[in-house]
This record gives sequence, structure tokens and C-alpha cells, in this order.
Amino acid sequence: MAESIELPSRLGILPFRNKVLLPGAIIRIRCTSPSSVKLVEQELWQREEKGLIGILPVRDAAEPTAVGPTLSQGVASDSGDRVPKIQVGASDGHKVDGKNQHEVIHWHNRGVAARALHLSRGVEKPSGRVTYIVVLEGLCRFSVQELSTRGTYYTARISALEMTKIEMEQVEQDPDFMALSRQFKATAMELISVLEQKQKTSGRTKVLLETVPIHKLADIFVASFEISFEEQLLMLDSVDLKVRLSKATELVDRHLQSIRVAEKITQKVEGQLSKSQKEFLLRQQMRAIKEELGDNDDDEDDLVALERKMQSAGMPSNVWKHVQRELRRLKKLQPQQPGYNSSRVYLELLADLPWQKASEELELDLKAAKERLDSDHYGLTRVKQRIIEYLAVRKLKPDARGPVLCFVGPPGVGKTSLASSIASALGRKFVRISLGGVKDEADIRGHRRTYIGSMPGRLIDGLKRVGVCNPVMLLDEIDKTGSDVRGDPASALLEVLDPEQNKTFNDHYLNVPFDLSKVIFVATANRAQPIPPPLLDRMEVIELPGYTPEEKLSIAMRHLIPRVLEQHGLSSAFLQIPEAMVKLVIQRYTREAGVRNLERNLAALARAAAVRVAENEKAVPVSKDVHQLTTALLDNRLADGAEVEMEVIPMGVNNHEISNTFRIASPLVVDEAMLEKVLGPPRFDDRETAERVAAPGVSVGLVWTTFGGEVQFVEATAMAGKGDLHLTGQLGDVIKESAQLALTWVRARATNLQLVAKEEINLLDGRDIHIHFPAGAVPKDGPSAGVTLVTALVSLFSHKRVRADTAMTGEMTLRGLVLPVGGVKDKVLAAHRYGIKRVILPERNMKDLAEVPAAVLASLELLPAKRMEDVLEQAFEGGCPWRVSSKL
Ligand code: ADP
Repeated sequence: MAESIELPSRLGILPFRNKVLLPGAIIRIRCTSPSSVKLVEQELWQREEKGLIGILPVRDAAEPTAVGPTLSQGVASDSGDRVPKIQVGASDGHKVDGKNQHEVIHWHNRGVAARALHLSRGVEKPSGRVTYIVVLEGLCRFSVQELSTRGTYYTARISALEMTKIEMEQVEQDPDFMALSRQFKATAMELISVLEQKQKTSGRTKVLLETVPIHKLADIFVASFEISFEEQLLMLDSVDLKVRLSKATELVDRHLQSIRVAEKITQKVEGQLSKSQKEFLLRQQMRAIKEELGDNDDDEDDLVALERKMQSAGMPSNVWKHVQRELRRLKKLQPQQPGYNSSRVYLELLADLPWQKASEELELDLKAAKERLDSDHYGLTRVKQRIIEYLAVRKLKPDARGPVLCFVGPPGVGKTSLASSIASALGRKFVRISLGGVKDEADIRGHRRTYIGSMPGRLIDGLKRVGVCNPVMLLDEIDKTGSDVRGDPASALLEVLDPEQNKTFNDHYLNVPFDLSKVIFVATANRAQPIPPPLLDRMEVIELPGYTPEEKLSIAMRHLIPRVLEQHGLSSAFLQIPEAMVKLVIQRYTREAGVRNLERNLAALARAAAVRVAENEKAVPVSKDVHQLTTALLDNRLADGAEVEMEVIPMGVNNHEISNTFRIASPLVVDEAMLEKVLGPPRFDDRETAERVAAPGVSVGLVWTTFGGEVQFVEATAMAGKGDLHLTGQLGDVIKESAQLALTWVRARATNLQLVAKEEINLLDGRDIHIHFPAGAVPKDGPSAGVTLVTALVSLFSHKRVRADTAMTGEMTLRGLVLPVGGVKDKVLAAHRYGIKRVILPERNMKDLAEVPAAVLASLELLPAKRMEDVLEQAFEGGCPWRVSSKL
């Protein structure tokens, strides 16, 4: 590359079809056509000094109208003042290169002067045609003034287009030019780096940037990559240096970007290829192994089945979209890959959920519903009435947002079975969700799927189990939920029970909303008090008190015994439990508010009878005689008097008779001896209270627990000490304070009560007091033991026994006033159960007795107490003999 080139005024022209040779570029061409061979021969080959030729771009004919060569205008705007005069030897034009005479040749008006770096001459055999191979280097731009033919090739009168040295120096000072050249160099450098990185070469190209003048570099760079003919022409026409540089920067940058994009695509494609190839290979292997094992249930088939299941699940469209996305993800995973299983279990759940599936609601027949409730449950008149009202409202307005019914009462009073009766009255399915002990919000709402072992919450799980979206859902033991660090289940339940919010219940595991609005919720609780107020606010509490022994008897005779017999495959032909025995079971074996233990004990009796019948079937005697039943098992089970006779039919009679064989001649009738044999010795008896209060210092209280009312003994004893008070029996703060209060009251009135001879004597002088509440493992709290504590202490200090037939309840103030307490009904029922005859109650609680069944009231003497003295008066035989009536 010479620094400055002396261009002759005329140059032999080599036309380049749709191609441009830029200055600085090197090209190798093979000349075969007569005209170009002639040109090379005359202008380059035969010259002694190195000759130059002009390379002029020629555009292919676009339109066949004009005949003869035309010279097209330069595209670049900077050539305005150098518009060539076009004189073309039209007559010879068509002969050039031997082209078709009708072909239009569009000559470009600018070209590049080139010199031959290398020349080689060849002779083709056998034709003897001469050809040249020329390596040309582009030198500098020129513009064509006039084009003419010389023999077979063209020549042109030209003028140089490159700047002079002075012009160049001027431009180089131009700040625009400087900025442009910096930008160009930076882009060029980047391109070089990328290329070098790609080809893992380094070094040499960068040197170019430092040594070659910038205007030449622009041409060299652009010439080195493929661009369109139009762009090549544009570059050729960029005579102005600034235009050339900015054009070159643009082209280099584009090239750089295209390399980068190409690289990215290659990487991606390579990655995918290798991954999918690997997957394919593994799949093939797996298939082969499965085939070998004869295990053909293909995983893919499973997924297809899953997809089909999902399609028929009737999901809402937003859920469907979500599920589709998840399924696509699953399809890409291999079964062994982490996440496959969890994703699949998740989709299975979504497919199983009853999005739309509902049990058809029957036309509600209130009369039938009432009959159903009556036939399932004895008594409970008010509760049943309320349920009928609830159903009536639903009948009139099916989508009524009535309150959620909440049955509150001790265990075994029929809360669950009432809820299930509601379901069957409505013809809906029934599902029970146990909330007892739920402390974690996630139990209700589920764990997010990011957790290992995450699961849906209990509600969604229940719905999946029941398989319809409109069941009656029992939220069992709603009072047993508690909150701790893991969130507040009650707040989640609030959302569930709120008709506004439960349309879009959000289970964390599901992660899509589920409509709970069609579910009928019913709740149960042992006590209403622990239920958080906002939750309680959404519910209508229906209290179910415990049953009286008489009610229990009726329930047992009408409902429990037939049910138990049926459950054990028996009938009254096999087993009869007389009323008197049921009464004994109620009195001696079960002292509960409900009937659950009663049912359990009856079931135990039924089991014993079932064993007898089953044993009987095996032992087929051969004579028709009546035998005494003496199996080893029954020896164990039954008392001597409980032996029964049975009818046996000899072998060999016809089949029909055999099938009806082994009927027991007379049914097994339960008696006391059998009760003890099967249920063990009685757990409770009427003498218990008398025995326990046999010594002074014990009184009988009535308390309220989650199991309903209970009798609670209070024991007090004194021993040598320093006047301390010891309390045991898992007592809460309130009850401890009550004990302190009771002791203070007794000490303050020790003289009046004639517990000490003189006022100055300290009642606790030299002794400690210990108060114990038996059933030491059961936590106790509440203020209602106040009067019982005082009674026990007075009994202790006076050495007088408390009446065994009297129980009491009531809170006491420091001044000795008796305040009303809660749960009176349950407490009175409990006293009745324990065979207590007299109950001392706060006077203000007397009104609560209206709720107690009349039969119970009739069997009890109820003694109102206003002040502590009234209690003491009633608690001791013959009244409180130590009372100085006026002063107390
Ligand atoms: P809860 O849910 O209150 O703990 P359940 O509903 O489980 O009690 O009742 C326990 C058993 O007692 C059930 O078999 C139920 O049918 C029976 N039961 C309770 N109350 C009655 C009643 N009034 N009439 C008939 N059976 C009853």
C-alpha cells in the first residue's frame, strides 16, 4: 500500500459484476473471457513497470428496455460536484465480454484503481486458450469521466477521488472526525477481540489498528466481511472521510452483533442437542429395561391419562391455564428428577378436586327431615327445632348466607351425629374435618409447595376425599385450635366461614383459588369460651347439655342397643340387655355427660355375645339333644349363672336346615354377673362420696370441664409447720388465689366460727395447711371452687365432717358474698349423676335451673346461698353449730 499513488489519466477497466473492490482489499480472480484476458495481457502482463487497472462495479440488468451501456449516478451525496459526463462507445458495448447484445450494462461511475500483486498465465488444453490468474490489491478511488473501448476491453478517462495530504491533515484536526475515528477504533477493537477469542488466536490484527491510517482501515475492515452489493457501493461512494468512517463503524458494529447473536444461538442449540440426545438415550434404555421386565405401563401414558383426567375435572379457566403450565413442566422432567414426583402429586390433586362435581340436592322435605332427626336422636327437642328452622330457611332461599351452626356440648352428646343427620336430610355428602390440636395455620391452609413434604390443608384434603363441592363439612372441635408461632388457624377459619371470602379460598399448596361457597359448614365445640370472638361471631351456638340418666336410658334402649346389636351382627334373638342392666351400666360404669362410654360398654357386651354365637357355630354337636354350653371361652367370659342352652341339629340334615342351624334356644340375657365378667368391677358406686368425705377436711364441689359437669372433691389437711399454704392438683392461678382467699376468710373469722378459743390466737400457729384437688393429673382452674375451699377448711379446723350428700359451687368474695358461676346446668346434672341429693348454689344462679330437666330437679334439694355462712349452714349436719348468728 503506497502512501500516495500517481494515477494515470486513463485506465484500462475490468468490470466487476455485482461486486466492489475496496481500497486495501486483496482479491484473486481468474480471467477467462477474451476481453479481460486481453486487458490483463496488455495493461499488466506486458508492462515493464507495474501497471494499474481500474475496477469498476457493474450492476446486473434490471430492465431490458434501454440498450447499451449506461453509467449510473453515484449513490453518495458527496459526489454532487463530480457528476461525470457519460460518453460511451455504444456500438461496441454489446461485444464486451461477449454478452448478449440486448443486455443493459449499468456501469457505476466510481471505481478503484488496483495493481497486480501476483500474475500467472495459463494455457488451457486442448483449446490452447490463454487464461490469467491475478491477485489484485485495491489502491484508491477514482471517478469515471468518460468510458470508451479499446479493442475488446474498456478504458476510462478518470480523475482521482482521494484527498490530498493537506486536505487530509485538515480533516484530521476536525473534532468530529476525531470522535468518529475513536468510535471506529473502539468498535473495530471489539470485533477483533471477539474474533480472536473465537479463533483462539491473538495479537497480530490489533497491530493493524495502530499502524494503518484510519481512512484506509475503514475500507480494509469493511472489505473483510460479507455485505450486500448496495452497501459495498455506498462504501465505495463514501469519499468524504467522516461519512466513510461513520458508515464503516455502523457496518463493523453490525457484524459484531451478528457474530454475538450467532454465538448465542450456537451455544443454545448445542446445549439442547446434547441434553435431548442424552434424554433420548436414557428413555430408550428405560423402555428396554421395562420391556425386559414386562412392565409396560409407560410413564408417558400415565401423563396422558392425567391430562385427560384434568380435562374432565371442570376447572375454571385460570386454573386450567395454570395446570397446563405445570403439566408442560412435568413433561420435560424425567421421573427420576427431583421435583417430578411433587409436581405430579400436585397435578393429581388438582385433577381429583371436585371443581364442579356436586351431589344433586334433593327437594327438601321438611317433614321427612324432622322424621329423620327424630329417628336418629332421642330428645334434644330444642336443638332439632333449630335445625328444622335452619333447613326451612335453606329451602326457601338455597343460597342464603345463614350463620354457621355450631353445636357446643360435652363429648358424646350427639353433635357429630346431628351434623350428619343434616347432611342426609339435605341429601348431601358428609365430611368431618378434625381441628382438635391444630395449632399451625398450614394445617388449614396447607404448606407452600416449596416445603419438602408439603401438603394441602385439611379442608382441601377433605374435599378431595368427599369428591363433591357441596358437602356438609363438619369442623369438629373448633374450640381446640390454638395459635402459636406457626400462625393462627382461627384467622384461616375466619376466611373459610366468611361467605364473602370463601369463594376464593386460597390454599397455599394449591396456589389457585378454590370456591368453598357451596359447602355447608357445621362446627362443634366442647366449650364456646375458647373460640376466638370473631370466629364465634360468624356462628350460631346451639348448646347441647349432657343427658340425665333417664335420658341416657331411653337413648340406650331406643338407639344404642339396636345399633350396637346390628353392628355386631346380632339381634335381640341372641342378646337382650334389660333396662335394669342398662341403668346399672349408666350408674356404675359411665359417669359422663354424653353417651359415648355407654355405647362402648354396650358394644363390649355385644362383643361377648358375638363370640358366643361364633363359637357356637363351630361346635356342631351330633345329637339333637339340648347341651349345656361349656366352651372354654365362655367359662372365662360368663358367670356360672349365665350359661345358656342351645338347640342343635344333627349333621346330615338338608342344607337349608343347616343354614338356619345354631339358633340359640333362648337369647342371652345380660345380668349383673355378666356385667362384671365383661366390664370388670364397677367403676363408680353411690358409696363413693360418703367414703371420701368420711374424714373432716374434705368437701364436695361441682366444677365444669370440657367433659361437662363433674364432681370435684377438695381435701385439706394440717401439719406442723410455719403457717404456709401448700396447693397441689395442677391448679391454675385463679384457683390458687381462691385458696388464699378462702384461708384468709377462715382465719379472719376463726373466733366467730369457734375454731380458736381467743381472738389473738393465730389459727395457723405452728402448722402448715395443704389443700389438694384429687384427679391430680387433670389441670383445674376457675373461681367456682371458692365456697368448697372454705367448707373444707372449716371442716378441717373444726374436726367436723361435711355432709356426704351435699355438693356445692360458687365464687366467694373476701367479704364472704357468694357470687354466681357458669355451667350450672351441667353441674347440677353431674351432681345428679353422682347420686348427690343436695346442691348448694349461689342464689343468683337459681334462675339457670330452668334449663335443667324436671326429673333431675325433682330428685335434688337445691339450696340457694347468698353468703358464705349460708353455705356452711347447709354443708354440715344440723347446720353450722359454731355460728354466732348476729356477728357473721
Ligand atoms: P359428639 O360429636 O357430641 O362427641 P357423637 O355425635 O359422636 O358425639 O355421639 C356419640 C354417639 O352417641 C353416637 O353414636 C350418637 O349416635 C349417639 N347419640 C348421642 N346423642 C344421641 C341421641 N340424643 N339420640 C341417639 N343417639 C345419640
